[in-house]
Amino acid sequence: MSSVIGLLIVLIIGLPQWVVNLTGQREISKGRMCSGTAIKGVLLKGKINFCQECGHTLSERDIQGKARPYCVNCGYIVYLDPKVAAVVLVSVDGKLVLVQRDIEPAIGEWAFPSGYIDRGEKVEAGAIREVKEETGLVVEIDGFVGVYSDIRSPVILVVYSARSVGGHMVAGDEVRDVALFFPDELPPLPFRHDKQMLHDWRVLTRD
Ligand SMILES: [Zn+2]
Repeated sequence: MSSVIGLLIVLIIGLPQWVVNLTGQREISKGRMCSGTAIKGVLLKGKINFCQECGHTLSERDIQGKARPYCVNCGYIVYLDPKVAAVVLVSVDGKLVLVQRDIEPAIGEWAFPSGYIDRGEKVEAGAIREVKEETGLVVEIDGFVGVYSDIRSPVILVVYSARSVGGHMVAGDEVRDVALFFPDELPPLPFRHDKQMLHDWRVLTRD
């Protein structure tokens, strides 16, 4: 039981740090979109230094076919879970809502509203929350676009289609600006899965 609690602590404390520290690798920081090259060694060695059970310095050991942080003092193994983030393609009058990011990575670039899902939060609710926080818009999910992941990244993206049902468009948390773009006239999108998401959204919403 204590190892389970320890693992939870590791995940709660450790995950945001990996993500923030994966600079230059298109990771999400505070719940933003991912498109990263999360090299295993970087994830495992650099960011979780101490055992959550006994405080001893962690080393790394091959366990069940993967190099995992391991405590030689108490035998504690850190199993690294993925992170879940939601991305929302919001339609308003035939246009898509993009936010101009005010945080790294991709600061200054336009991207779909997105963010991390909290533990215990329904993914759909988290998606709606992130859109409200970033754009001021109240949205209703009206379609499921897909799930996107990559072996080089700890982040799994769950992508929805949504329509605006209220609120006022205003740049919110960690956003420089928010604007509407015709789907055929989007600026270059910065993240790995953006192109595929957009394609899948077009297929989904095709009349
Ligand atoms: Zn230990």
